[in-house]
Amino acid sequence: MGSGKVTTGSAPFDFQGKHVTVAGLGVSGIPAAKALHARGALVTVVNDGDDARSREQAAGLEALGITVRLGDGASLPEGTELIVTTPGWQPGKPLFQAAAEAGVPVWGDVELAWRLRGPDAAPWLAVTGTNGKTTTVRMLAAILEAAGLRTAAVGNIGVSLLDVVLGEQTYDVLAVELSSYQLHWAPSLRAHSAAVLNLAPDHLDWHGSMEAYAADKGRIYEGNQVACVYNVADKATEDLVREADVEEGCRAIGFTLGTPGPSQLGVVDGILVDRAFVENRQKNAQELAEVSDVRPPAPHNIANALAAAALARAFGVPAQAVRDGLRSFRPDAHRIEHVADLDGVAYVDDSKATNTHAAQASLAAYESIVWIAGGLAKGATFDELVAASAKHLRAVVLIGADRALIRDALARHAPEVPVVDLDRTDTGAMLQAVTEAKRLAVAGDTVLLAPACASMDMFTNYNQRGDAFATAVGELRA
Ligand code: ADP
Repeated sequence: MGSGKVTTGSAPFDFQGKHVTVAGLGVSGIPAAKALHARGALVTVVNDGDDARSREQAAGLEALGITVRLGDGASLPEGTELIVTTPGWQPGKPLFQAAAEAGVPVWGDVELAWRLRGPDAAPWLAVTGTNGKTTTVRMLAAILEAAGLRTAAVGNIGVSLLDVVLGEQTYDVLAVELSSYQLHWAPSLRAHSAAVLNLAPDHLDWHGSMEAYAADKGRIYEGNQVACVYNVADKATEDLVREADVEEGCRAIGFTLGTPGPSQLGVVDGILVDRAFVENRQKNAQELAEVSDVRPPAPHNIANALAAAALARAFGVPAQAVRDGLRSFRPDAHRIEHVADLDGVAYVDDSKATNTHAAQASLAAYESIVWIAGGLAKGATFDELVAASAKHLRAVVLIGADRALIRDALARHAPEVPVVDLDRTDTGAMLQAVTEAKRLAVAGDTVLLAPACASMDMFTNYNQRGDAFATAVGELRA
């Protein structure tokens, strides 16, 4: 960790009369353009697409006096002094190259929200990581609520930070989920405390390299005031803490599924304990909750609970609220969701396991599994996942565009495991996959949809894929 360089946060930015280019219409672009226009900026929105929907959206903005350029998201409008971009736009785009050459700063939606928040705005407890962000942020919000604090789970979770920051409601503290894209474009964000849950290759096509991806995740620690929370089992997260420049007195706090050392939270005899935010941490520990208070009590989810607890404790929340909050927490859909039991076989929907790191965590949570996998690999390789999970596999059913990559890894690392390759990428394939899985499973097994891949080759998104699984299980039952 940097040796106490004091960061003073961002200077207020005067938008009056400034030429601001908003890159991308859509969920974050439209509210950003309106907010900037309302503050006196001269706004031009640029957008790659020029379809009926964008024309309609453009007309709405033009009626307010905002300029919109459709079908041209590449060139930098004359006189631009600042770009505010949709977080998903890739850094390699010509627009950003032109901005870099012209010395024009680029902000994302989170940076804009950060700059526009009021002087008495609530502090942010921020969470990122390859997997577990949404779950952890929801657990954190539940704990903060249990402590009687006015809070909300916001950010990448589907609640726009800009809306929250500009809204009427006041908060004591925010539980903020941040994606690596958002962090890339948020240079002056300074959280009260932050956690990086884990770091595994994902979205490398966007970031360009693992180093660039890690560096963007690591920005979440910059300027932290009280705690940088890292995963003891994932050294890369600890390295990011070491590299960060933080406020004087900010502490590095580890979470572990093992016995915690001083300045760590961990697990002892089925109890979640805190050896970080206690008097005399060399000798003392505070009981927070029981492992059985965490739902589902899968190992990776206990890690999520510990990270949430660490952030809450950094904010001064009492131990009792950690227990109450974890007990009141309900996981979101399609995240290790128990769908049904049929003939002694459990059917579990982890459609949200869209990368190999997530799938590996859920495959580790069950003894004997018929695994339904496949979809869009996004450049991933499957050797590590299959080698680590082989001992849990009763059989595998493969669907989706890139299933051959998984089939080849199975042939290399688990040649004895039966594999059914469905050779289908249509939506109806899920019913056949579940039917095959039922045939292969024996009482006591778990049929687990944990595709390790994105869903867009067959479905609109992971929600639809998970729903298709649940519907198929329902049909088997009928
Ligand atoms: P995110 O918001 O980062 O995508 P979610 O909480 O929605 O994370 O969980 C996504 C998937 O990642 C889950 O379905 C589960 O398979 C897996 N997962 C959750 N927490 C972890 C973790 N700590 N480590 C590894 N995988 C995890």
